[in-house]
Amino acid sequence: MITKLPDGKTIDECIHEFPILKNIIDTKEVFWVNPKLEAFEEAIKKISLNEHDVRDAENRLTRFAPLMSNLFLETLVLGGLIESPMYSIPYMQRSLENLFNIKIPGELLLKCDSHLPIAGSIKARGGIYEVLKHTEDLALEHNLIKLEDDYSIMESEQFRKFFSKYTIQVGSTGNLGLSIGIMSAKIGFKVIVHMSADAKQWKKDLLRSKGVTVIEYQSDYSKAVEGGRKLSDIDPMSYFVDDENSTNLFLGYSTAAHRLKKQLEDMKIIVDSEHPLFVYLPCGVGGGPGGVAFGLKLIFKDNVHCFFAEPTHSPCMLLGLLTEQYEKVSVQDFGIDNITEADGLAVGTPSGFVARTLQNSLSGVYTVEDDKLFMLLSTLIDTEEIPLEPSACAGIIGVAKLFVNVSATKYLKDHNLTDKMTEATHIAWATGGGLVPKDVMEGYYEKGLNLLAKRDNHGLH
Ligand SMILES: *Cc1c(COP(=O)(O)O)cnc(C)c1O
Repeated sequence: MITKLPDGKTIDECIHEFPILKNIIDTKEVFWVNPKLEAFEEAIKKISLNEHDVRDAENRLTRFAPLMSNLFLETLVLGGLIESPMYSIPYMQRSLENLFNIKIPGELLLKCDSHLPIAGSIKARGGIYEVLKHTEDLALEHNLIKLEDDYSIMESEQFRKFFSKYTIQVGSTGNLGLSIGIMSAKIGFKVIVHMSADAKQWKKDLLRSKGVTVIEYQSDYSKAVEGGRKLSDIDPMSYFVDDENSTNLFLGYSTAAHRLKKQLEDMKIIVDSEHPLFVYLPCGVGGGPGGVAFGLKLIFKDNVHCFFAEPTHSPCMLLGLLTEQYEKVSVQDFGIDNITEADGLAVGTPSGFVARTLQNSLSGVYTVEDDKLFMLLSTLIDTEEIPLEPSACAGIIGVAKLFVNVSATKYLKDHNLTDKMTEATHIAWATGGGLVPKDVMEGYYEKGLNLLAKRDNHGLH
C-alpha cells in the first residue's frame, strides 16, 4: 500500500473524495456508475479512432480469410473469419432470478467468445488480428504481396522461410499468449510468450507443444510484459505485442461489433431508444472489452450501455477511472493483492490508452468475488450446458447486479430506462473457456457445486 497517489493525494483523502473506494480496498463487491459518461456524439469527439479504423481492420481480416481457412480448418465454415455464436440463455436467466431473489425483465443472451476458433477466447479477435496486421506489414514492405492478392499464397514454404527470420513476443496471463503463440507459429514466426505467475500450466504446455518458447515469471502480469518488452526491444527482428497500449489489438476486438449487429438482426432483436442494449464485459487490461465496447458504441450510440466486470482482487480499470490516474495506479498501490482465479483478469494496472479512450463512453464497472465466478460456472453448465472459464463468468452476473444495486437503479432512472426494461436485451460476453482441458473444467465445476451447496440461504447477495 502506498501513502500517496501520483497526483499527491493520500489514500485517506482519496477515500474521502470517493467513498466507494473503502469497499474496493476491502475487496467487497461494488457497482460503480461512471459519472463522466457522456452522450455518444460528445464522447466520440475526444477519441482519436473512428469507424474508418474499424472498417480498415474488418477489410484486413477479409483479405486474410482465404489464408485462414486453409491454415485452420475450423474457420472454413465461416469462410475464414473467426466468429462466435450468440445464444439466448433463458434457463440461466431463471436461475439468476432465483439465486438473487429478483425478477429480470428482458432477454439475456450469451456471446460465446469462449467458442471462438483457434484460441477459445476473446483473444482470438485482437491477438490474431495483430499478428495478421504485422504479417501483412512485413510482406508489403518487402514487396512479397499486393493488397489485391489472394493471401493464401502466404502458406508457401518461401513465405514461411521469410517469416521465420522474425520474432514475435508478448506478455500474458495466459490467453493472449495462446492466441498470439498459436497464430504466429502457424505463419512461421519465432514466438516467445512471457507468462505471469498466475498463468495456468496447461496453457504453457499447449504453447510449448506448438513450438512456442514460454518464459515464466514469478511475478504478475505487468512484470511479464516488462520482461517481454525489454527482450524484444534489443532485437531488431523482434516485434512486441503491447497489450497495454496497442491500437491494433483494440481494433481487432472492435470488429466484433458489426458482426454482433448482424447476429441481433438475425435473431430479430431490435436495439433503439425504446429497446436498450446492455453489455457486460469481463475486463483485464482493458483492450478486449474496450475494443468491443468501442465498436458497439459506434453502431448503437446511446442505446447501448456497456459495463466492465472485474474481480474484487484485481479492480484495476475501476481504480484507474475512478481516480482518473489511469495507468499510473495499480491495485497494489491500494493494498489489493491482484490474486484471483480469473487468470485472464489478473491485471494490476489498466491500459492507459483504453481507460482514456473509454472514460466518457463506459456506463460503469462492477466487481465480483472469485467464489461467485465458480458458482455461476457450475450453474451455467447445469442450466445451459455451456462450459466457460471462471473469468468469462464475470459478465453473467452483471444483469443481476443491474437489478439489485441501488446505484444501478439510479442509473436506469437517470437515463429514462426504468420503464423500458421489459424491452431490454442483455448480453453477457463469455470471454473464454473453449480450450480448457476436460479434467480442469471438471475441477471448476465441482468447486462451484460445493460452493453453491455451502452458501447460506440468502442467495448470491
Ligand atoms: C484477456 C481476457 C479478458 C479481458 O481482456 P483484456 O483485454 O485483458 O481486458 C477477459 N476474459 C478472458 C477469458 C480473457 O482471457
